[in-house]
Amino acid sequence: MQATITLLPGDGIGPEVVYLTRDLLAAVARKFGHTFTFSEALIGGCALDAVGNSLPAETIQACEAADAVLLGAVGGAAGSRWSDPNAPDRPERGLLALRSHFKLFANLRPVTVFPALASGSPLRPELLEGVDILFVRELTGGAYFGEKREQGNGDVAWDTMIYTVAEVRRVLEVALKAARGRRKHVTSIDKANVLASSRLWRRTVESLRADYPDVTIEHALVDSFAMQLIRTPNRYDVVVAENMFGDILTDESAVLAGSLGLLPSASLGSGTFGVYEPIHGAAPDIAGKGIANPTGTILSGAMLLRHSLGLEAEAVAVEKAVKQAINDGLRTGDMVARGEQSVGSAAFAEAVRVRLES
Ligand code: NAD
Repeated sequence: MQATITLLPGDGIGPEVVYLTRDLLAAVARKFGHTFTFSEALIGGCALDAVGNSLPAETIQACEAADAVLLGAVGGAAGSRWSDPNAPDRPERGLLALRSHFKLFANLRPVTVFPALASGSPLRPELLEGVDILFVRELTGGAYFGEKREQGNGDVAWDTMIYTVAEVRRVLEVALKAARGRRKHVTSIDKANVLASSRLWRRTVESLRADYPDVTIEHALVDSFAMQLIRTPNRYDVVVAENMFGDILTDESAVLAGSLGLLPSASLGSGTFGVYEPIHGAAPDIAGKGIANPTGTILSGAMLLRHSLGLEAEAVAVEKAVKQAINDGLRTGDMVARGEQSVGSAAFAEAVRVRLES
């Protein structure tokens, strides 16, 4: 197949992990007889520096012309020239504007634990056995996008958590359909004992139940779920949540894997187009050192192959190659347990490529 992939490397370690993943996707194309064309555009702090806009019009055009987008990360260190909270434009605005422009309402974050790395998690290894959760987070609604106001001298402020049934239904359908390809279990998160928007959320879940008789659906209150996620993480299959609850819970779940550098994500709308990015940020503390873990971006590349290009076998081949490299003892610095050797980002990605091609 022929596909165009737009790369948005962004800031910090973003370019390092994105270019390594591009090279791996090029290896996938060679192995499976596809033609992938890569274009590249600016987003975030580097775009602010170059053209004074965190999401330039040319970047939107480059993404519109693509089948999918692979993004690194945006942002700088605390106190950097991009960190003024009162600045009219900031790196992360570029990311939010990109998601809004393409109406990417569903954020998929698979969380699995590589058994070889379980000792690196702060949780006891036996709790992590068999952990395989797909978080589906609503991405374009709720308090993050509702009306925000401050009054008086800033002594009163409020945010509006607002959802429509249509917004809730479309993200629930993503979760329910994904569950059909997995263990057919969905946990829907809300705070229906307190919030009106959560009651609407729960009613909408109930209205879909009859359409998915093959899927077991349970409700969980966000506060008790936050506890259960750490106590019995292997109990969950697909977990679906509104924007802010999902934001918090997915960061919590990253602890299960042992390193932020390991986890991928996909932001999807109603078609096949998507934006794929690792869950970590720009990691300015290690940028330019060649030690960043490219796994989260490489696995985001696998999600891109699966969701946007429909290349399931190719996605599985990438995921297997990553697993083999880790099982063979390859580790970047963030993955090492005491006494283990680490390799740089490029050597790790090369080890994945060799296993993909063998
Ligand atoms: P971060 O994820 O960038 O880094 C947190 C810690 O994890 C750091 O110690 C970092 O070195 C380490 N780390 C992260 N990714 C790693 C990898 N691939 N390999 C090895 N170690 C890794 O989070 P932060 O420090 O809170 O944020 C730094 C900047 O990134 C900020 O400007 C923030 O706004 C931005 N950020 C961007 C995104 C995004 O682009 N989606 C997400 C989160 C944070």
